[in-house]
Amino acid sequence: MAPSTTPVFLILFGASGDLVWRKLGPALFDLHADGWLPERWAVLGVARSAMDEATFRARILDGVQRFARRSPDGASWPSFSSRLFYLRGDYDDPSLYAELSQRLRMGEPETSDMAYHIFYLAVPPSVTETIVAHLGDAGLVRDRDRHRVVIEKPFGHDLASARALNSRLRRFLEEHQIYRLDHYLGKDTVQNILALRFANAFFEPIWNRQYIDHVQITVAETVGVEHRGGYYDQTGALRDMVQSHLLQILCLIAMEPPVSLNAEEIHHKKLEVLHAIRAIPPDQVSTYAVRGQYGRGRIDGEEVSGYREEPGVDPRSTTETYVALKLFIDNWRWQGVPFYLRTGKRLPVKASEVSITFRPVPHRAFPDAAVQSWQPNRLILRLQPEEGVLFRFQAKAPGPVMRLRPVDMHFLYRETFGNDPPEAYETLLLDLIRGDATQSLEAAWVERAWAVLQPILDAWARHPPENFPNYPAGTWGPPEADQLLAQDGRQWELPTILEETRGGVERGSG
Ligand code: NDP
Repeated sequence: MAPSTTPVFLILFGASGDLVWRKLGPALFDLHADGWLPERWAVLGVARSAMDEATFRARILDGVQRFARRSPDGASWPSFSSRLFYLRGDYDDPSLYAELSQRLRMGEPETSDMAYHIFYLAVPPSVTETIVAHLGDAGLVRDRDRHRVVIEKPFGHDLASARALNSRLRRFLEEHQIYRLDHYLGKDTVQNILALRFANAFFEPIWNRQYIDHVQITVAETVGVEHRGGYYDQTGALRDMVQSHLLQILCLIAMEPPVSLNAEEIHHKKLEVLHAIRAIPPDQVSTYAVRGQYGRGRIDGEEVSGYREEPGVDPRSTTETYVALKLFIDNWRWQGVPFYLRTGKRLPVKASEVSITFRPVPHRAFPDAAVQSWQPNRLILRLQPEEGVLFRFQAKAPGPVMRLRPVDMHFLYRETFGNDPPEAYETLLLDLIRGDATQSLEAAWVERAWAVLQPILDAWARHPPENFPNYPAGTWGPPEADQLLAQDGRQWELPTILEETRGGVERGSG
């Protein structure tokens, strides 16, 4: 696809912050170096920190040197950095927006009056509404086609606050001007779920309750709260990870085939899935949801602190750092198929995986001795690390007797395409510039996702946990999470990346 020709003015609020330094600056640089940006573009960083343009550019350079795929050199850096500008101001001061308006007008002759103005709010959520209201009052988001506003997750902290936020945003913006980003959705491997399901004929006939026994979605992190203790302690794993990332993955796995890949159609199909999720009865939350918090333990052989000892965290905190859920989707395709979701911090390995377990064959003609290590067929979508797809099936082990062994056929991104998929923010920034909202979250989806989780949020708020911390760092969460599956006669699958390091299942030809 050729780069867009329409000029772009990207206004980065919170330009002094972590997201701009670590992600947005490097992603923009890589896009520029690879020739994906339009010929005429500029970035205007806005923040309260006192910085001149040279300091801002030096800060972006530092991020690029550390995190970009490409190294800045004597040609690429000057042509990139000459388009970076900085404006200091307070987000609640109308004079900032008057000055911004003037700067944008000054920029117009150079970038033509048809430039897109993308206002990227890389700021804490507490500032979002203030900025949008000022942009609205200053007439800076008046053009429904050219003016876009980007908001980073989290979008509210429960159903009521998400509804209130959306309705306040709509006072100044039309829904199609708002891009709610969850960077997880920009990952190639997440987008590959669509390609896998809908560009291949052999999945669809078996993608239903007749052939699929259950689905597991695991997003495991080894890190604790790092420098975000204050934020995380107000948020927790259910809000931070499940509300957006895990439910989005579930929607991509469970959605009906779309008629086209346009944003409206994909949004519609994903929303249908959320509507079909069986409501969790308020008095049965513990049958469907498990929460945990890590105590001290060991990760990679190193002693690590418990959650309550982390900087910025209340020493008596009841915030969950682990969640496991069982959800059902009440429609023709999925009736009776459990979707088990789990995510947590300080787990033994960093891995995001979807594991789809198929039902056993109706009749096993093999003698008992042949099927001692028999396992059901599994399709494993590895979102990270070592992104790829594995298909696990039975094969005859070599030898004179019939003995079946599970083996894997695999596709790994790096092996097939020679490099890792691009950073999610590159994809998302390019989508923004093109006006493609497929990967952004629409208001109705966000609100419905909160509605699915609201019974859990309410029950957990009513009954604070009494047994926290209930899993040591470096383990797979509290024992109740295992029971959640054991009561259904199932167990959590270990991420396949662990099997590789331990020399697990045999590999077939991939
Ligand atoms: P930061 O905490 O680094 O804040 C960004 C900037 O906002 C700061 O440099 C500061 O700039 C300004 N700011 C901070 N606190 C306040 C405040 N209380 N009132 C007004 N301005 C404030 O945030 P991040 O850059 O990490 O994240 C920005 C957004 O992106 C957040 O919504 C976050 O949840 C989201 N996000 C971040 C990711 C990351 O990797 N960092 C990943 C995914 C999402 P100044 O004081 O100069 O005005």
